[in-house]
Amino acid sequence: MNKQAEYQQAILDDPSVTKSKPEIKVRHKHFAGVETPDPPFRRLRGYAFDPSLSTRLDTAFVNEIIYQVRWEKKSRKRDEGLMPGPVGEYVEVVDYDPASECFYNPVDLSDELILAQDGLMPSEGNPQFHQQMVYAVIMTTIANFERALGRKALWSAGKNFEFVRRLRVYPHALREANAYYSPEKKALLFGYFPASGMRPGKFFPGGMVFTCLSHDIIAHETTHALLDGTYAHFVEASHPDSLAFHEAFADIVALFQHFTFRDVLRHQIGKTRGNLKSQNLLGELAQQFGEAIGNYGALRSAIVKENPQTGQLERFVPDPDDYKTIIEPHGRGAILVAAVFDAFIAIYERRVADLLRIASSGTGILPEGELHPDLVNRLAEEAARSAQHVLNVCIRALDYCPPVDINFGDYLRAMITADRDLVANDEKGYRIAIIEAFRGRGIYPRDIRVLSTESLCWPKVDEAQRFFKPLAKELLTHLSEFSLPLDRHAIFLKTERISQRLNMWIKSEGYRDLREFSKVAGIRFDFDLVGMRRSKKQPDLPTFQIHSLRPARRIGPDGRTLNQLIMSIVQTRDVPIPDQASNAKSKPRTVKFRGGSTLILDLATMRLEYAITKRIDDESRLNRLLTYQNELEMGGSLRATYFKDLDDMREPFAVLHRSTSEERL
Ligand SMILES: [Zn+2]
Repeated sequence: MNKQAEYQQAILDDPSVTKSKPEIKVRHKHFAGVETPDPPFRRLRGYAFDPSLSTRLDTAFVNEIIYQVRWEKKSRKRDEGLMPGPVGEYVEVVDYDPASECFYNPVDLSDELILAQDGLMPSEGNPQFHQQMVYAVIMTTIANFERALGRKALWSAGKNFEFVRRLRVYPHALREANAYYSPEKKALLFGYFPASGMRPGKFFPGGMVFTCLSHDIIAHETTHALLDGTYAHFVEASHPDSLAFHEAFADIVALFQHFTFRDVLRHQIGKTRGNLKSQNLLGELAQQFGEAIGNYGALRSAIVKENPQTGQLERFVPDPDDYKTIIEPHGRGAILVAAVFDAFIAIYERRVADLLRIASSGTGILPEGELHPDLVNRLAEEAARSAQHVLNVCIRALDYCPPVDINFGDYLRAMITADRDLVANDEKGYRIAIIEAFRGRGIYPRDIRVLSTESLCWPKVDEAQRFFKPLAKELLTHLSEFSLPLDRHAIFLKTERISQRLNMWIKSEGYRDLREFSKVAGIRFDFDLVGMRRSKKQPDLPTFQIHSLRPARRIGPDGRTLNQLIMSIVQTRDVPIPDQASNAKSKPRTVKFRGGSTLILDLATMRLEYAITKRIDDESRLNRLLTYQNELEMGGSLRATYFKDLDDMREPFAVLHRSTSEERL
């Protein structure tokens, strides 16, 4: 007799329970089939910012939050569900500490004791909590990304274009003040280090700082990986904006995620009396990291910065010249982050103007003292909505970026076009707010005369439609296979297969006349240009790659549905770097010059809507690249600061994120 039967028998045998001895069924017919569904979320405790805020009285009560992470089932099968590590569908936490040569026991988040307590209690001294924290923040960041893009996230493909299911995450990989995403290893590496003794901030001098416990650092690194999965060429330093864009985008995601923490948001709105322009936790990044390496306050702040002369914090006033003069990637990236933050503030202020008028009886000046909790709640709600809107536009804009050589002006155009496609009517003036904020920071495209929504939107394509109609038809037959519950590996394989077919299609006999296509997509099918790479299989044709093919289905606020297919075509030339007098005898070094296009097809009309193109035959762009490469090569200011060798570019983020403090750790 099994346990359940024994238990039932015991009830039947117990005279105090019942006298009529009813028949007990395990399942009554009316209730058959009612099963407990999987919970939508796994609740995991963690820090909203980093451990340092838990030791300050004013922030301790809001710093511990519960991350609601998409539920991953426990499974006994290898490679399925959530396993100890945590090892799930997207990430694999490997807790090996090379400095002390030991593996820490992996946390099992499916353990009932852990489940019942919403995960392990936040603790700096428990490596298993560290594993839980990185998992919670990475999964939260991925969810935000997938929601905005309307599809599943893929990591960038491996060396031989193989599928990478899981990003490797090492919470204790380095004993230095650094944390970075490695595009080579497809891994996130987090460091830990003793806090600086010189200006220990709020710490015990020499206390340990773990970068894997900072929400901002984890979200920032995860975003690098997600962006690399979308555009693999963005990690190449082809323009002063390219690495700066990677940095800025990673910061934007980390920053705007703060506004999804409701309790923190309410607390900070109350504290700043609804004025998000004043210094507050939400607009700062990586507080502990910044303080521990001896800088004041947060490492980067969108709102305030330290005046080097007075040492005081001052509001970060926009200077349109910064974009012309600051070349170093973090400083330059900060300009973009600040522009996006300015746009957010403008949108937020517009949304709360009526609330503030009501609360101040029309004067706009709030009475002294604490705000009414109802007002705080409403302001927080508007701040959260504005932030979510800006974050969505920022992420969705990725689909409207050129596949190579991005600059901030392109990104502005991408944001405006992405928003207009989904929300035709800009009643609330969001797009104007974005344009104004970017103009205030001196960011606008070089070839545009008037800054308006119409002129900034990428132009619609008229040419080459006859080429795309059959292509779209062909694609549609495959696309039904893309419809959801496809596993990420299957999506990857299908994308690969369709890409190959497209390649064949473009090169096929039926399309001898490729001039129109070449004009739209910015690639060439002849060898008139220097350094054009040849196709291995067909040496009489220049080679090109279809880099990524991404279906996107989005629903706008007015119920408008967009069904698009986005694909990137990239072509590469190996151009010799001129003026290499010192190594005249050795083989001249070449630089990779890439061109191509992001093509956006509307699947409802089967038309090519946009071709966001960087032409492979744009010689003036090539000249700018050569000047920039020379600057790096000849030991210009940028190289002197960061790159010992151009080969350092294989791990660009390791170099970019290393602590710049005097004390080497
Ligand atoms: Zn970074």
